Amino acid sequence: MNTKDATSDLKWTCYPKVDGQWDEMSGLDDERRPVRTYEICNVGVAGQNNWLRTGYIRRGLASNAYAEITFTVLECSSLPKAGRSCKETFNLYYYQANHDLANDHFPPWMENPWVKVDTVAAEFLGRPSRRGSGGSTRFNVKTLRIGPLTSEGFYLAFQDQGACMALLAVRVFYRVCPAVVASLASFPKTVSEGLVVSAEGSCVEGAEGPLGRRPTMYCREDGEWAKPAVGECTCVAGREERDGRTKCTAPPSAPRSIVARVNGSSVDLDWSEPLDSGGRGDLYYEVHCVECAGSGPCAPCSRLTFSARPQRLLDRRLRVFGLSPRVTYNFRVLALNGVSERSGLGPMGEELNVTTDRDVPLPVSGIQQMAASDSTLTLRWAPPTHSTTTKGNILDYEVKYYEKDKEKPLTMFLKTPSTEARLAGLHAGTVYVVQVRARTEAGYGAFSGDTLVQTLPQEKAQPQVGLIAGTAGVGTLLVLAVIIITAVVCVRRHSGTKEPEYCDKHGQYLIGHSTKLYIDPFTYEDPNEAVREFAKEIDVSYVKIEEVIGAGEFGEVCRGRLKIPGKKENYVAIKTLKGGYTERQRREFLSEASIMGQFQHPNIIHLEGVITNNCPVMIITEYMENGALDSFLRQNDGQFTPIQLVGMLRGIASGMRYLSEMNYVHRDLAARNILVNSNLVCKVSDFGLSRFLQEGSTDPTYTSCLGGKIPIRWTAPEAIAFRKFTSASDVWGYGIVMWEVMSFGERPYWDMSNQDVINAIEQDYRLPAPPDCPTALHQLMLDCWQRDRACRPRFAEIVSALDKLIRNPASLKITTQEQLGSSQPLLDQRTPHYSSFSSVSEWLHAIKMGRYEEGFRNSGFTTFSRVRQITTEDLLRMGVTLAGHQKKILSSLQQIDPTEKTASGPTHCY
Ligand code: AMP
Repeated sequence: MNTKDATSDLKWTCYPKVDGQWDEMSGLDDERRPVRTYEICNVGVAGQNNWLRTGYIRRGLASNAYAEITFTVLECSSLPKAGRSCKETFNLYYYQANHDLANDHFPPWMENPWVKVDTVAAEFLGRPSRRGSGGSTRFNVKTLRIGPLTSEGFYLAFQDQGACMALLAVRVFYRVCPAVVASLASFPKTVSEGLVVSAEGSCVEGAEGPLGRRPTMYCREDGEWAKPAVGECTCVAGREERDGRTKCTAPPSAPRSIVARVNGSSVDLDWSEPLDSGGRGDLYYEVHCVECAGSGPCAPCSRLTFSARPQRLLDRRLRVFGLSPRVTYNFRVLALNGVSERSGLGPMGEELNVTTDRDVPLPVSGIQQMAASDSTLTLRWAPPTHSTTTKGNILDYEVKYYEKDKEKPLTMFLKTPSTEARLAGLHAGTVYVVQVRARTEAGYGAFSGDTLVQTLPQEKAQPQVGLIAGTAGVGTLLVLAVIIITAVVCVRRHSGTKEPEYCDKHGQYLIGHSTKLYIDPFTYEDPNEAVREFAKEIDVSYVKIEEVIGAGEFGEVCRGRLKIPGKKENYVAIKTLKGGYTERQRREFLSEASIMGQFQHPNIIHLEGVITNNCPVMIITEYMENGALDSFLRQNDGQFTPIQLVGMLRGIASGMRYLSEMNYVHRDLAARNILVNSNLVCKVSDFGLSRFLQEGSTDPTYTSCLGGKIPIRWTAPEAIAFRKFTSASDVWGYGIVMWEVMSFGERPYWDMSNQDVINAIEQDYRLPAPPDCPTALHQLMLDCWQRDRACRPRFAEIVSALDKLIRNPASLKITTQEQLGSSQPLLDQRTPHYSSFSSVSEWLHAIKMGRYEEGFRNSGFTTFSRVRQITTEDLLRMGVTLAGHQKKILSSLQQIDPTEKTASGPTHCY
């Protein structure tokens, strides 16, 4: 009951029924809303007993009710008429009845049968308003408990005993703790009993309580629940609490209406939400796939890729790539949420079959890494073969690639009409994952499986030996430093989180895991296609020819500059094809570019590109300042320390290791075919095939044999005898290059005839160690010249053997000179003993020191008896300042007479 809500007179009952009694009036409350009020002010007459009774108030559920009374009382002392009987309090009573039975006489207007609640005193007393002043009234609000109540209802009565007061509002109410769901239990609306009341609840749907007990919570007097509940409910298996432990949520129902739109080898799937989310907001989807091809059994889809992870999908759509032709794919879309796993029922799904047509290209396979630099990778692959579509129907290919070890790699795409792509702008020494797919009119085929490829480490990590390093010590340091850099680059990867799968045991990088095999350009029906595939066409306007530096098989070799827009200008070597060539010559000339273009290694000459659509046709390579190794060494005879020479050999071996890994057999490994740059870095070159052809060159180095021309002195016996050219025969040639290097460009087997060389080798004679050649190096040469090619070291072993020597320079101090008489097989065909020459001049020319003839003569060294006494100081005075030349002269004089030596017998594997 609330008098404030009354819209008409309250019409409460007064007693006695005389003037000056409780008077019902209309007024405004503190919020200036119209209210019904009762006032009384009989302060001048003693013995006041004025009752005011409310209407019948139903108890409802209450066993205790509350009466909130808003009133004002004027201060007796402020009332001029107030006598001593003036009061500033009133009394409140209640009377219970099961129905509205009251009338003017009943219940009697006396304390008994009424139950007194309290004498209510005003906390704030007001003053009457006077003329000129507003007076003061402050409201009092008192709440009093009525009860205990047992009857259906009750009346309240206000007894005034002489106060000047107003009842501004009376509100009667009881308190309830509202119905609540807490601790996975629901509790009913519970009336506060004035004291704490316990209320029994029941577990919410999907939850259960401890066996035989219901959860209980206490309703406080103020209408608030005393939490937590006692006897907790918990969610049954497969459901989960949510929203502050008031709900046990369930798995969602199945997704609806899956739609598939096939486009070539991809399909777009989308679907609608499940009808029932399980009362949760963490709905997600999973897409499962099974493929059924032909009559074979169905299997989980193995080669598909997805636009998003097909697990924990929030979107109701997914694009699936890589569908193969003529396959039925069964896609099952599951709806799940946080409780799906625990439901024990399995998620609800909807499925759909998608059958691809027959025109989608088959997946591309056999991706090969053809070339690499520290920022580029050239890849090649085979066109899809067993497809019903022909190669000609393939419109283009799409290459997808990204860094393998990056957490969130950026996926890049590249389109190409050919079966080759050059990925540029890559990071050095980085492994990339590559996939390729073909496109026909019907759309894209499946992406190939992952192929791992790797860019080279940064150029500076390659071993280099400084030309200016004059002493063995400096050279050693330099070589060691470079090797350490290489090792550190590798070790850094070792110490990373990933396994060191891209370093081999020698601390060198392997070029990815993919098979990268050399492709013979002559296997192409149209060799021009091989050129297009492996060599970049360079715009003639980017090239400036400066000077002729040599003569090649097909024309001049020039030095020039190459300025590709956006790149820095570089010196280049330009091989030209002289005019009047036949189509076959053009093909042969360009075949070198097709081969060279497949290689990318710091010790292999780098192809910049070709100019084929202009005259003359040109092959453009990096420029090697020091030209061919043989002539370079002859020009610098004796000027390099053994460690510098070993540094060069190591580079050549490293390049050859790379070629052998690519299954490329060079067949013409010789110092003349090694180029040297300004940093003394040696690079394998000369990949032209023409010189081997019967009718090709007239170079006497290449002797016509059955089936082609062969550089006899550099060629392994099995290759000479039955054209067995392998990496093992290249190793033989490498041994000859070692000998050339260590003898500063001496001609192998000197001026022996080719037939003599063949015979000597057949009889197991081998080249002796060049002067001052470290024994270990000569031993390595002999290993390379094992008759049984299986006994020869592989290039990887040669690289590591040289690395060992570089790391231990002391080992290079042991020279064959000190080891003479060892049991190594030697071919005793070195410079004849000085005693066999008729003059000092003849002898000097024989040992290639003819340039000092005049100095010898001027200093009086004209006879061998004088020459035998010669010292280093004498040589210096004559102008022989090069240590190598001094050694050559002195060692020739110290040479033991050959008649005292015997040649060794056949070689064996050891
Ligand atoms: P080729 O017939 O290809 O071996 O070349 C003939 C000569 O040209 C070589 O012996 C070198 O002296 C020179 N030459 C070839 N290529 C280069 C190059 N890239 N840099 C410097 N000189 C070169």
